[in-house]
Amino acid sequence: MKAKKFIDIGANLTDSMFKGVYNGKKYHDIDLDSVIKKSFEFGLTKIFVTGGSLDECKESVDLVKNYENLYTTVGCHPTRCLEFEQKYTDSQKYFNYLSELIKDNKDKIIAIGEYGLDYDRLNFCRKDIQIKYFEMQFELARIHQLPSFLHSRNCHSDFIEILKKNIDVIDKFGAVVHSFTGTPEEAEELLKLSPKIYIGINGCSLKTSDNLKTVAQIPPNRILIETDSPWCEIKSTHASHQYIKTHFKSKKRDKMNPCKMNTKDKNSNENSLIKGRNEPCTLVQVLEVLEAIFSSSSQPPDDLAEIIYQNTLKLFFPS
Ligand SMILES: [Zn+2]
Repeated sequence: MKAKKFIDIGANLTDSMFKGVYNGKKYHDIDLDSVIKKSFEFGLTKIFVTGGSLDECKESVDLVKNYENLYTTVGCHPTRCLEFEQKYTDSQKYFNYLSELIKDNKDKIIAIGEYGLDYDRLNFCRKDIQIKYFEMQFELARIHQLPSFLHSRNCHSDFIEILKKNIDVIDKFGAVVHSFTGTPEEAEELLKLSPKIYIGINGCSLKTSDNLKTVAQIPPNRILIETDSPWCEIKSTHASHQYIKTHFKSKKRDKMNPCKMNTKDKNSNENSLIKGRNEPCTLVQVLEVLEAIFSSSSQPPDDLAEIIYQNTLKLFFPS
């Protein structure tokens, strides 16, 4: 049997946890290089880093340039959209800087994003502002002819309306609605909008038995997988946990002695994860859960890993 290949379509590798900083406190040195190397040992062939603001995207671009198999999105997350109005004298300037960043680094930019709507976190950014810049960023996809990496939380009807208005972009370049946690009806409505819409599944999409039932109804040829690390790990309390075959040891941050860990623990790092920090290597677990829930479907797919891998290539590397 040939080895399974995976692509993590969403990893927040510029997060401070990969620099050893948790809740503002430093616990260990930067260990991103070993995190990335470990993920390739577990079958990942590519990782897409998600960018959420202009500065974060600049950092992300600098990061992915150092690795042949890393790519990044460029865009502004719904919770950060106030930056459009506050960072420079006008929003067009912010837009232009995003656009230049894409133009100057075309070979490493995989999609526009993440962008969309998040009505669970209106405390960070008001609804009207989120809507305004969600719509504006479709223009980036149009100009640069790239797929969209979309974020959608508790906003389904507004989200669908805005997608409909920009369906030309989606039909041409495609989109993924990442970290999906909606209902079966919402998934169906999204997939009906355009054959080029995919649904991104991570640990957060697989928490409850209802989540598992919803995911089992998505056609395999429309599924992509992600870790959303350092977030969205599959926890022992989740409905999905029983289906995991690959287990990682959990390693505690040494609360009393920040920075001690890296020097002491070098050899025991390989198969362990730091408690509370997800890593791209756990993508294998997302796939294991999907394989388990699809194996009991009426028409179990032959090779789910390969189907998802090909979906990913089709959307992000169409040529
Ligand atoms: Zn997101």
